[in-house]
Amino acid sequence: MNLADSAISKMRPPKNMHIICIDVTNKCDLACSNCTRLLENQDAFWEMTPENFRLALQSLKDFHGIIAMIGGNPVMHRQFEELCAIFEEEIPNKFQRGLWTNSIFKHTDLALRTFGTFNLNVHGNPKSERSMQELAKQAVDAGAVVWNYAGHSDHAPLLTAIQDLMSEEEMWQAIPQCDINREWSASIVQNQGELRSYFCEVAAAFDLARNQDRGHAVKPGWWKEEMQAWSDQVKHFCPGCGVAAKQTPYKDFEETDVYTKTNRDLAEKSAKDKKRKIIYLQPENSSMINRRVTQYNTL
Ligand code: SF4
Repeated sequence: MNLADSAISKMRPPKNMHIICIDVTNKCDLACSNCTRLLENQDAFWEMTPENFRLALQSLKDFHGIIAMIGGNPVMHRQFEELCAIFEEEIPNKFQRGLWTNSIFKHTDLALRTFGTFNLNVHGNPKSERSMQELAKQAVDAGAVVWNYAGHSDHAPLLTAIQDLMSEEEMWQAIPQCDINREWSASIVQNQGELRSYFCEVAAAFDLARNQDRGHAVKPGWWKEEMQAWSDQVKHFCPGCGVAAKQTPYKDFEETDVYTKTNRDLAEKSAKDKKRKIIYLQPENSSMINRRVTQYNTL
């Protein structure tokens, strides 16, 4: 078995994950450093259609875990209310209906009615702090599962491609240790109008940022595939990704992305179009640190 295939055999397939994400929009009220959705590196706003959201949910029939409605900030989807109604129709178990958000805006009551699981992370934004703490309190009182984070977060870079920083052998040893594959999720996104599935939520972000389409078709039960079925995506995305390279993080509010030469195109695009702060990491200045890809300040 070659190095890549050996690494893939050690990775976690979507069917063994506790959560699968559905990204319903890339709109967000924040612009965090090293965003795990590469939102500042995407060219245009998009929203998943309600019809596609329903198909995405139907494809997850029999999935045992939580289905996370995420973005961007999903409550900024212009049809958020309609999406909530579809979620209730398609997924009867409230605990499986998850909301991942950093600001709830006017939707507290709707969110409490719709979701049984919450991941709330204000990223230190004082404008959303009070309403999110109120939502967290009411959700706990209602018996929901709530992960609630206050304060700022550290975000390690995604654009520091591991292939620019390590030998081939070191790289394929590190990739199966990636925090995202071990602890985060597969995802469904709407890519150029089509529903697409990815073994990794960050891989989906890279595809969207480059306006490419290496996603798999979203057929019922797509998530039951063994890891080998995702080898095309792993071989394409993981060498160009920085998560397993574990480089020095920035605080969310610093709105700064760190990159290496493989991802110069994405970094320079955001610097030019959105005046994003970018920092080039020289390979000789890189060093792995023993921290998670994101570190949250919990309450
Ligand atoms: S694309 Fe990046 S985040 Fe996803 S599994 Fe590969 S190394 Fe990890």
